[in-house]
Amino acid sequence: TTTNKQLLDQQEKRESNARSYPRRIPLAIKEAMGIHITDMEGRKYIDCLAGAGTLALGHNHPVVIQAIEEVLHDRLPLHTLDLTTHVKESFVDELFQSLPGGFKDRAKIQFCGPTGGDAIEAALKLAKTATGRQSILTFQGGYHGSTHGTMSISGNLSPKKSVQGLVPDTHFLPYPYDYRCPFGKGGEEGHQLSSTYIEQLLDDPESGILPPAAMIFETVQGEGGTIPAPIGWLKEMRRITEERGIPLIIDEVQTGIGRTGKMFSFEHADIIPDAFVLSKAIGGSLPLSVVIYDQDLDAWEPGAHIGTFRGNQMAMAAGTASLKYVKENRLDVHSEKMGAHLLQSLKDIQQDFPQLGDIRGRGLMIGAEIVDPSKQSTRQGSFPAYPELASRIQKECFNRGLILEVGGRHGAVVRFLPPLIITEEQLNEVITIFREAIQASLE
Ligand code: PMP
Repeated sequence: TTTNKQLLDQQEKRESNARSYPRRIPLAIKEAMGIHITDMEGRKYIDCLAGAGTLALGHNHPVVIQAIEEVLHDRLPLHTLDLTTHVKESFVDELFQSLPGGFKDRAKIQFCGPTGGDAIEAALKLAKTATGRQSILTFQGGYHGSTHGTMSISGNLSPKKSVQGLVPDTHFLPYPYDYRCPFGKGGEEGHQLSSTYIEQLLDDPESGILPPAAMIFETVQGEGGTIPAPIGWLKEMRRITEERGIPLIIDEVQTGIGRTGKMFSFEHADIIPDAFVLSKAIGGSLPLSVVIYDQDLDAWEPGAHIGTFRGNQMAMAAGTASLKYVKENRLDVHSEKMGAHLLQSLKDIQQDFPQLGDIRGRGLMIGAEIVDPSKQSTRQGSFPAYPELASRIQKECFNRGLILEVGGRHGAVVRFLPPLIITEEQLNEVITIFREAIQASLE
């Protein structure tokens, strides 16, 4: 039989040097079911990466498999560009029924190429077309994709340094990262200072910012280190953009479909953006992405955003089934409850391990920022990030059968993104392994 190592070695030899996930998570998958992955040698892992937050229902959920089988059985086209089928109609229906009140009757949908990045590109193009402007307001530490355009509006990623000629007129504003607040204070006061600063910048003719085509952010920065923006700050950004006629685009690629405890994360703040982007979980495990936007923004001519692989039938069928399941089983509420349990359990562990500098998140999007408490703390009272220790913890978790991702702008945030179906008992197993792994990584 083939071993993990044989497959890993072969792929390491032939794949590009940009390859990253398989290096940090060195296994070859034989099968996957629910929250578990089994490798070639029969070892079982709990998957708290879940396709970077894609697998809301875990691996191979029966309702998803059944929906895909129906497409195959009914001889529906496997590829049709975005031509009309009843599968597509059901998907749009199910999605529109999930929209909050303020959006339901005003929403338009654009199917995009299968990735989140493609839908972000579409949203930016739409805002530029609708406003006739070109500058984009984005945030430090944000992540929106790996294409030229999306990389341009993403934060300080090291891959950016090697790519010249990114999209100009992109302005990075301070995100309310409480633990390392750019204004020296976290909490209410810190985020007030952040929004006051942003407002002042937009109104100052000397700021060098041309009238913006859009403001874009994640309500919880994901790849940037699981940083939830305070609810009050989100409301402030809506007010500031609305008063100035700047379209607000919310990137719900990672936060959408129940992940943060609401169907869409902007619902926590009771705001309605002008546009938002969905991918990852919306395809029920398969590649799919869309932009949902207010009809007033629909300035596009026919053909303004095209692409071959948009609205794949199997992905739409899987997405409909998955969305239905999330709603019928109130996985949004479950996510909020499980997230609160995970957050509290990690805070309990923090009592014994000051290396867990900050525990934060919303719903089942939780992060633990790993720090070095033996070093001098900064003026905000936070300790320096400790990426080497975060990697060791990740490795010790892996050796004990738990897959977690490490991210964040300093590479020091251990990120928990389990499938939303995870039970309290399974979460307790995650927590036990995590505690043991920290202990082991300090020995
Ligand atoms: N936006 C956010 C918030 C993301 O987390 C990601 C992917 N991690 C993207 C956009 C890009 O999506 P994709 O990788 O499918 O292009």
